[in-house]
Amino acid sequence: MCDYTQREYSCGHLRWIASKWCRDYTISHKRCKPNVADFEYRAEEVCGECKPKEYPPWENLIRRSKQRTD
Ligand SMILES: [Zn+2]
Ligand SMILES: [Zn+2]
Repeated sequence: MCDYTQREYSCGHLRWIASKWCRDYTISHKRCKPNVADFEYRAEEVCGECKPKEYPPWENLIRRSKQRTD
């Protein structure tokens, strides 16, 4: 079994982050039953899905350069 950290975000969603792969996984690369070894609570963060989409300031430049010219 691999060790996982269960992370709970302020939005209530849970994520499992592998903290240690077991020997079986390193050899076969087959996912095995996760063993939740740690719990974390992120009161200041929301999960990736709930995060508002933020674009870096150069996003517009990229979009503009992708415009079709044909
Ligand atoms: Zn494992
Ligand atoms: Zn969420």
